Amino acid sequence: MEQIRNLIGGEMLASLSGETLDNFNPSTGAVYSKVPDSGEADIDRAVQAATSAFPGWSGTPVNDRVALIMKLADLIDERAEDLAVAESRDQGKPLWLAKAVDIPRASANLRFFAHAVMNTKSVAFTDVNNVVEYINRSPIGPCALISPWNLPLYILTWKIAPCIATGNTAICKPSEMTPMTAGLFSELVIEAGFPPGVINIVHGLGSKAGQALVTHPDVPVISFTGGTKTGGHIAESVAHMFKKTSFELGGKNPNIIFADCDFEKAIRTSLRSSFLNQGEICLCGSRIFVEQSIYDKFVERFVAETDQLVVGDPMSKKSFVGALVSRDHLDKVLSYVELAKKEGGTVLTKTGVEGLSEAHKLGFYMRPTVITGLSPECRVQQEEIFGPVVTITPFTTEEEALTMANGVQYGLSASLWTSDNSRVHRLSKKIQAGTVWVNSWMYRNLRAPLGGMKSSGIGREGGDYSLNFFTETQNVSVSYSS
Ligand code: NAD
Repeated sequence: MEQIRNLIGGEMLASLSGETLDNFNPSTGAVYSKVPDSGEADIDRAVQAATSAFPGWSGTPVNDRVALIMKLADLIDERAEDLAVAESRDQGKPLWLAKAVDIPRASANLRFFAHAVMNTKSVAFTDVNNVVEYINRSPIGPCALISPWNLPLYILTWKIAPCIATGNTAICKPSEMTPMTAGLFSELVIEAGFPPGVINIVHGLGSKAGQALVTHPDVPVISFTGGTKTGGHIAESVAHMFKKTSFELGGKNPNIIFADCDFEKAIRTSLRSSFLNQGEICLCGSRIFVEQSIYDKFVERFVAETDQLVVGDPMSKKSFVGALVSRDHLDKVLSYVELAKKEGGTVLTKTGVEGLSEAHKLGFYMRPTVITGLSPECRVQQEEIFGPVVTITPFTTEEEALTMANGVQYGLSASLWTSDNSRVHRLSKKIQAGTVWVNSWMYRNLRAPLGGMKSSGIGREGGDYSLNFFTETQNVSVSYSS
């Protein structure tokens, strides 16, 4: 049984209590490794390590910090195959996806912020009163970086890179459900030669290790990606502590398809935006709205294509959909399919996963599911399901599409499919979403802001948005005599 360890102060350690949690392989349903069940004492040790490392790291010349970050990115690339296999086995996503997206993006995150921090500029203001003012941006201290299970190493490095590039130190708490690549990454941090305590990774439950981390008095910054409910709970727990916080939360993203779109591209991309990574991407389009005149044609074609998608062993190149992350999550997603039937919906796609080998019979699989006939107000169209389930609903006017698209508590992203440029500009401004993709999905420029409106979060990540978040802004106002 593999034992994952915490990285604290440059050492790979078991939890102080010696307690562990089971870590499952979603593709087989079996426990295959053990992860530290860390508590307050482990967190305290990691915060002390990060606090001790902060003066040295923040005072290290930026060139030297960047050289280490680049070295870490190179090590990820060298170990890409192992990391991709580990990510797929731990999370349930197809191996081809981990190879094509998750792991390359992890090293790209590090390189991107290493370059970005070398290219920051400072603004100065001069006026006629013999005063010159300039802006200092300084690192803040030990930062809590909390990441979810859907894109484990991808999101972890998306937070670590800007945090340490700007001179902060990090205490990371990866999801207890997908700790494996964070464990392997910890070894690479040591191999790259980071000073002890600059990057600490503490595993364990959110309610125990995570809660101890966010409420720790010596941690002034929290960067959180996860569910809206958890984000709200953390915000309440630390409101009185005036920490700098960023929340990247859930979504229930609309995919609005007008009759004048490129139909083939809309079908192809909507299949990906609905079911890639088992629909376990916060940016997946889970509510498809289709203009009435092409509704029947769209539904027929979309359902036929969905039924062709191969579900099965994540290690097989043929699988488009792998296993869901856990038994609990699979049960939750399936319960929404049952709820949809009670709410008057019709399931149009095949059910039951066929062709699983003996080894995979107990894995957490389900077929991608398309549901029609639901009212926009019902729970299935309002709540985040975070699995391979989409609803399709017709609309007749732009206003109706907009009302339904905006009629949820979330506001993370949206996709708009049309060839009418005026409509693109007119509607984009009115869609309540941090990102609006037009005739595309998931295109990401790392300089662009990513984040949500309404209950999808507070703050933005990416480029300068992240660099600003991880630094304090100070105005130095200098008066001089003429
Ligand atoms: P989650 O909220 O259950 O857990 C996220 C992380 O928070 C985990 O590491 C967990 O251990 C930790 N945690 C839980 N309780 C905590 C507490 N009290 N204090 C501190 N940490 C705590 O979310 P999840 O199920 O892992 O991830 C799925 C959710 O993440 C979905 O809602 C999805 O939309 C969202 N998500 C959002 C984005 C984005 O960029 N907006 C990206 C990916 C995932």
